[in-house]
Amino acid sequence: MSSKSRTIVVVGGVAGGASAAARARRCNEQAEIIVFERSGFISFANCGLPYYLGGEIAERQKLLVSTPEHFRRRFRIDVRTHHEVLAIDRTARRVRVLDHNSGNTFEQPYDRLILAPGAEAVVPNVAGHDAENVFVLRSMEDTDRIKAWLDHQTIRRAVIVGGGFIGLEMVEQLKRRAVDVALVELLPQVLAPLDAEMAHVVETELRQHDVRLHLNDGLVAIDAHNGRATHVRTASGAAIPADLVLLGVGVRPNSRLAREAGLEVAPSGGVRVNPYMQTSDPAIYAVGDAVEYQHAVAGRPVPVPLAGPANRAGRIAGQHAAMDEAPPMTPVLGTAIVRVFDITAATTGLSLKFARQCNQPATAVTIEAKHHAGYFPGAKLLLIKLVYEPLTGRVLGAQAVGPEGVDKRIDIIATAIQMRATVRDLAGIDLAYAPPYGSAKDPVHMAAFVASNQLDGLLNIVQPDADLSGRQIVDVRTPQEFAADHLDDAIHIPLDELRDRLHQLEPQRDTVTVCRSGLRSYIAARILMQHGFARVADLTGGMLMRRHAEAAGLVASPTSSASSTEN
Ligand SMILES: Cc1cc2nc3c(=O)[nH]c(=O)nc-3n(C[C@H](O)[C@H](O)[C@H](O)COP(=O)(O)OP(=O)(O)OC[C@H]3O[C@@H](n4cnc5c(N)ncnc54)[C@H](O)[C@@H]3O)c2cc1C
Repeated sequence: MSSKSRTIVVVGGVAGGASAAARARRCNEQAEIIVFERSGFISFANCGLPYYLGGEIAERQKLLVSTPEHFRRRFRIDVRTHHEVLAIDRTARRVRVLDHNSGNTFEQPYDRLILAPGAEAVVPNVAGHDAENVFVLRSMEDTDRIKAWLDHQTIRRAVIVGGGFIGLEMVEQLKRRAVDVALVELLPQVLAPLDAEMAHVVETELRQHDVRLHLNDGLVAIDAHNGRATHVRTASGAAIPADLVLLGVGVRPNSRLAREAGLEVAPSGGVRVNPYMQTSDPAIYAVGDAVEYQHAVAGRPVPVPLAGPANRAGRIAGQHAAMDEAPPMTPVLGTAIVRVFDITAATTGLSLKFARQCNQPATAVTIEAKHHAGYFPGAKLLLIKLVYEPLTGRVLGAQAVGPEGVDKRIDIIATAIQMRATVRDLAGIDLAYAPPYGSAKDPVHMAAFVASNQLDGLLNIVQPDADLSGRQIVDVRTPQEFAADHLDDAIHIPLDELRDRLHQLEPQRDTVTVCRSGLRSYIAARILMQHGFARVADLTGGMLMRRHAEAAGLVASPTSSASSTEN
């Protein structure tokens, strides 16, 4: 078959499908390219939907990034909305299509088929899930339904089920509309990709904005009256009043077509693909939320239902389908970010808990630093947790939370991970600096310095959730800080007095140094190590992250203390 004469059929016309079709045209001017899209819209901004519902994006039109007419005019691509692909006949190389406008079905031959059908929202099969004010948010049609309900009904109270990225975006946007919001989450934390103590920072922000959190509590039923939801019932027995319920409990890859056609599908439901996005049938490609991508750090395929991979994979599939060659898909990291009121939370690569689940040797450091020079007005503190291999220093992942500068740091670290950098590489990375933008030693450097110290044997680290019982805990903060809050049995010696009061400590004991966030305790650890204390470790993230770890339920016996044990 000449590459000029081929027919490329694309199933799904949004992130992955639209990217694939446009790229195919740019690579092959002669091909016939047809996009079938089940809904009435192509290339709309899924990621913008919550912000339109909250009113932050004022015009609906702004969500419609492209139109079938534009695709026809600019790319000579035949886009057919309200056309659903029902089945694939691999032997005859054709798909069966239902035209929802006419109700007719027809067969469409293909030489190359690109599947980009996305994922579907999981709807728990509980009583009341079909009430008229229970919604999911995936499509423009879903958005229009929710918008109509918000605009024309009196909505005082909403319940969001699911504390993932979309759930939190909707919490924020409904609060923006002055709706009283409760969040129900089955897991003990929001934002499952984050480690629990980092997620707890986000939970604190939610509570500060009067969001009622029902964590570790599953949805069991929705009470409805006259077809309208009134309460959400949870496993703990709570009955939460609701004028609107949004289900954001996750997505399931739309892999039915692929499965029924006999293509390989992983147990996760994601279609199996090679680096050119070809399925087990080389004439059929699959991209986006419907597939599993190779993970750059976990080293195995995983579903990553995010827009970036879908767009990049679509581009590769489109090129390969048009030309039979393309660069391979780069493994993904699951880099993701969300704004939650006044803070931002972001993640890339592996969390420490996920690394442990994968039996990947991993440790982590957590630092708190200003997002730009402290002396420049407006400096804000942000937290970075850097996850790395303890022996090689290879960076495995990172999480960041704070009011400013989170996006930049996570993107720097994501880039480093993709290049297989170590924490030493990161410590040496040459970043732009002037006071309004950063610091000569950027927070990324600070995290990497601490990790490099650990690698070089200059510092031992204990995690915020470590069992500290039986250890000599040396708290080096000011008397005021210590009086306000400290760990049980902590010995208080302010950092500047430490060298003069070493005789009050026992050098042979396992010792942990503690301060607010880990900087002064690092200096203290270095002093102790150089004065013959054999087994000293620094509590990474300090009291700040210890308290978050305790509140997140990570510490078996919390070490709170109200009484001062100052020496
Ligand atoms: C509310 C919301 C917010 C999001 N925010 C972000 C974000 O901030 N950042 C981020 O990275 N990701 C975000 N995402 C995820 C991101 O939008 C998806 O990962 C991405 O759109 C997946 O692309 P896709 O092409 O696989 O599927 P989609 O973009 O969902 O497109 C699939 C299309 O295929 C059509 N289709 C399905 N089956 C058929 C069929 N049989 N025949 C014809 N057509 C069919 C569907 O109607 C659908 O329009 C968000 C998603 C949502 C819903």
